[in-house]
Amino acid sequence: MDFFITEINKICMENKKVAMFIDMDGTIVNYPVYLKGTISNTTSGKFINEKPIKLIIDKLEEISKINNIDLYILTLSKNSIIVEEKKEWLKKNINYITPNRWIILDKQKGEYNSDNRDYVKAWKMKEIKEKYNYDKVILLDDDHEILKTTLNELKENSKVYHISTAII
Ligand SMILES: [Mg+2]
Repeated sequence: MDFFITEINKICMENKKVAMFIDMDGTIVNYPVYLKGTISNTTSGKFINEKPIKLIIDKLEEISKINNIDLYILTLSKNSIIVEEKKEWLKKNINYITPNRWIILDKQKGEYNSDNRDYVKAWKMKEIKEKYNYDKVILLDDDHEILKTTLNELKENSKVYHISTAII
C-alpha cells in the first residue's frame, strides 16, 4: 500500500470527520519560477496551460473514495485573472472535487496580503473546521512557511504534509 494513502487512511480511521486541503501551485500543478516583477505582466493564459502532477492527482482520487474525508482545494492567487484560470484548470483536470469545495483566495480583492499570506490558509481551515464540525484538518502544500504556520495555529487538530511525503 502507498505510504501517503496509508497515512491518510489511518487518520480517517482515528477520526470521525476529516477534511483535507490541497494547494495548487507546486502541489497538483507544475510550478514554473519567473523572474521577480514579471509575474503580473505575463500571467494571463499561462496558468491554464500548466501541466497537472498526475502522480499526486491519482493518489488524491484514491483518497477521495474514503467515506469520512472531504477534499478541498485551498490556493492563493495574486490576481483575479489567475483565479479564473485556476477554475478553468480545475474543471479540466480534477473531477472529484466539486466547485463548492474550491477555495481560491484573491490577493487583488484583498482576501490576503503579503503580511498574512502564511496565516490565511490556517484561518480558512479553522473556519471550515468549525462550520462543518471536522475533527481533523489536513493540509497538503509545498510551502514550508505555510505548513509550519498552519501546524502552529491549528495544533493537534491538524496534520500537515509537504508534497514530498505524497511522492514517496
Ligand atoms: Mg504551492
